[in-house]
Amino acid sequence: MNTAYRSRIAPSPTGYMHLGHARTFWIAQQRCRSQNGTLVFRNEDIDTARARPEYVTAMLEDLRWFGLEWQEGPDCGGPHQPYSQSQRLPLYKQALDQLIISGALFPCICTRQDVLRSTNAPHAGEDEPLYPGTCHNLKLAEIPSGKHFNWRFKVPNAQTITFNDGNFGEQHYLANRDFGDFIIWRHDGLPSYQLAVTVDDAAMQITEVVRGADLLKSTARQLLLYQALNLSPPRFYHCELLRDEQGRRLAKRHDSLSLRQLRQNGKTPEELRAQIFN
Ligand code: GLU
Repeated sequence: MNTAYRSRIAPSPTGYMHLGHARTFWIAQQRCRSQNGTLVFRNEDIDTARARPEYVTAMLEDLRWFGLEWQEGPDCGGPHQPYSQSQRLPLYKQALDQLIISGALFPCICTRQDVLRSTNAPHAGEDEPLYPGTCHNLKLAEIPSGKHFNWRFKVPNAQTITFNDGNFGEQHYLANRDFGDFIIWRHDGLPSYQLAVTVDDAAMQITEVVRGADLLKSTARQLLLYQALNLSPPRFYHCELLRDEQGRRLAKRHDSLSLRQLRQNGKTPEELRAQIFN
């Protein structure tokens, strides 16, 4: 087995990159360099309603300016092309079919806001509500033709998912308490974040996923997907989140803290790194 260290940074082009992204990605780069590894840049543009090409250009530019260097990505190619999720739909579809055949999913006709949100990673406070189980026993044949439905992953009731996080140590999550049956595929033909990210991290042979602590619970979901797809999971390292002066997690709406704005204000990458790692 090839055990060379491979890590990735996987931003979504739905706004400008801010100091929080820069901090997490810098940690990813440092961990990767210390292992003589390969850093992959993946453009997570699956949310076609919110992703914008100008943000793709901006994130590549701003992260490079900040001092990040990747060896594979949409701008430089590599052995696992394409590096933009919008061009990888056949891979997700294949995984969907595999999950349907193995009985891991159920069709769901509930219409809820979380279906729309499912293409985005659920950052702090954005997690979908526990699914009440309404469509658990629904069969595909029972759905009237033309009616929209989504595919959901049926989480094993009361199973504890345990993993050893490289930063936070041992983690335990309980299925159907900490998260419920989650969306895999939307009725409009798009995979969820949970499916796309799992398929890609496996296909790109990522050995360690470094990302923000608000995705710890998503890691538990993804571990169930690795299992259901017969894939071996990477290691995980979640980083503490950077907060603003009010203690709120930074979000793309904090424009004043976007790398772009800070650069325009004359800040240098060195100053910013000193500020976020003080
Ligand atoms: N595209 C996701 C985000 O920007 C990445 C999450 C992850 O690293 O898995 O939130």
